[in-house]
Amino acid sequence: MARMQTLTVLGATGSIGESTLDVIARHPDRFRVFALTGRSRIERLAEQCVQFHPRFAVVPDAAAADRLAALLRAAGSTTEVRVGAEALAAVAAAPEVDAVMAAIVGAAGLGPTLAAARAGKRVLLANKEALVMAGALFMAAVDQAGAELLPIDSEHNAVFQALPAGYDRRPEASGVARVLLTASGGPFRDRDPATLVDVTPEEACAHPNWSMGRKISVDSATMMNKGLEVIEAHWLFGVAADKIDVVVHRQSVIHSMVEYIDGSVVAQLGNPDMRTPIAHALAYPERIVSGVGPLDLCRIGRLDFEAPDLRRFPCLALAYDALRAGGGLPAVLNAANEVAVDAFLARRIGYGEIGGIIDAVMGAMHGAGDTSLDEIDAVDAEARARAWARVRQREVA
Ligand code: NAD
Ligand code: MG
Repeated sequence: MARMQTLTVLGATGSIGESTLDVIARHPDRFRVFALTGRSRIERLAEQCVQFHPRFAVVPDAAAADRLAALLRAAGSTTEVRVGAEALAAVAAAPEVDAVMAAIVGAAGLGPTLAAARAGKRVLLANKEALVMAGALFMAAVDQAGAELLPIDSEHNAVFQALPAGYDRRPEASGVARVLLTASGGPFRDRDPATLVDVTPEEACAHPNWSMGRKISVDSATMMNKGLEVIEAHWLFGVAADKIDVVVHRQSVIHSMVEYIDGSVVAQLGNPDMRTPIAHALAYPERIVSGVGPLDLCRIGRLDFEAPDLRRFPCLALAYDALRAGGGLPAVLNAANEVAVDAFLARRIGYGEIGGIIDAVMGAMHGAGDTSLDEIDAVDAEARARAWARVRQREVA
């Protein structure tokens, strides 16, 4: 019989959080929930508590805590409500916890994800922004504490599956020549770049293949998501920027590939449903059913590949620039992108302005450092302030 694993799900009310709980619900003999966390959708968080009986639920502020506590009381739930960033870190690092699903979106996920790594947990990493911001620090924490890092991002989970067991972030030692990240190209892959200037948040969030949260949906449209994933792959697998290629593959059936020096290319395929990588990481090294149906290759018929058009997707080029520049520049890229995407979703700037804002903030902050968490926090704050200033300038103009 499989050993029971106790889990904390950070960001339980989001797209990845819901998919995680969907897989967990299929395996009550394997997984028990210690804590669930969410920022909004408090009613949904209460329902999840009633279904999964976590010991703790964590929300960001007192108003949300009062509402959640009232809902839980009315439902007869014994889940205890906790508030704030310290509580998030505490439920990620608690001794009872075996594994932490890191599925908070954006920089807000860094603190608790790092706390889980420092406590030596099995970390199921969906929150790519944490690794982009603080890759060196995060990987050092993983190594020092002996944490086990399993990628949830479908591309990185595919690469993980295509690498030899026990791979230790030294590509040469394993005969790895290149990592090939596939990209669907998002909703605008066939649009003339000249017509992209004033697309709406609704159009940008309508992804052709995947159903996801709003921030990552916009990132997929701009291909910043793939850029963040290039940086994520660098840290997870120890591969240099010039050995990580992006291939546009519109069917999203091949989730990524590893090329070896003997000419072999190993790929992982599957239907585009995040429950596959989630189930893989939850049960690793075993396999469990995920709720995802079998891949029907004959129905799919063909798999297409093309090179990304960097004119259409300037954000992808910016991410390579940030990775090559190193230091705090990936944190700058990430912070400026989060602000630009927020401003776009709030209809304060146009879609066509996202890349320009990030580029300008990166230009102003060349040389930013990343040697400590304090320094990264300072870089993040400065990049956000600069990006918001640019948003306001554009509003006035
Ligand atoms: P989402 O917006 O659907 O959910 C985000 C979750 O984080 C929610 O539970 C929300 O309440 C919580 N949250 C947001 N801001 C917070 C804050 N400031 N403090 C505490 N909690 C906060 O996002 P998602 O699509 O589930 O993505 C989550 C992460 O997984 C992202 O980093 C994303 O890049 C990554 N990811 C998602 C997918 C996908 O298919 N959705 C695929 C690969 C990677
Ligand atoms: Mg991905």
